[in-house]
Amino acid sequence: MDPDCIFCRIIDGQAPARVIHQDEQTIAFHDIHPAAPTHLLIVPVQHIRSINQLTEDNQEIIAQMYMVARDLAKKHGIEKSGYRLIINNGPDANQTVFHLHLHLLGGQPMRYPMG
Ligand code: 5GP
Ligand code: ZN
Repeated sequence: MDPDCIFCRIIDGQAPARVIHQDEQTIAFHDIHPAAPTHLLIVPVQHIRSINQLTEDNQEIIAQMYMVARDLAKKHGIEKSGYRLIINNGPDANQTVFHLHLHLLGGQPMRYPMG
């Protein structure tokens, strides 16, 4: 728990969020500035700054984040229409919150190619 981290504060119940899933390893909530009709954030409970800080011990957490994404895509009815899963890391990717998170975006056709 990093008291200066907004996602740690949400996990701790100190900051509000529209939480839609919680288990021992992950929490998921609606992004405050949705970039698509469905825009969810899947976040490890453990404060990990980015993919760069992952260790072998974190493998289960990463797997769980993707399993939760799968379940939430289904729950939001976008598993067939399609969705995009994004993890931004560092300045060139515009990471703004330094607590690892997986964006789940869907509900509309999205532009491609990326970058
Ligand atoms: P990043 O650019 O780091 O990949 O994405 C951070 C995301 O977190 C952004 O999409 C932003 O809208 C979202 N976000 C930032 N602060 C909050 C907050 O306090 N609550 C929620 N629900 N989302 C937030
Ligand atoms: Zn944090």
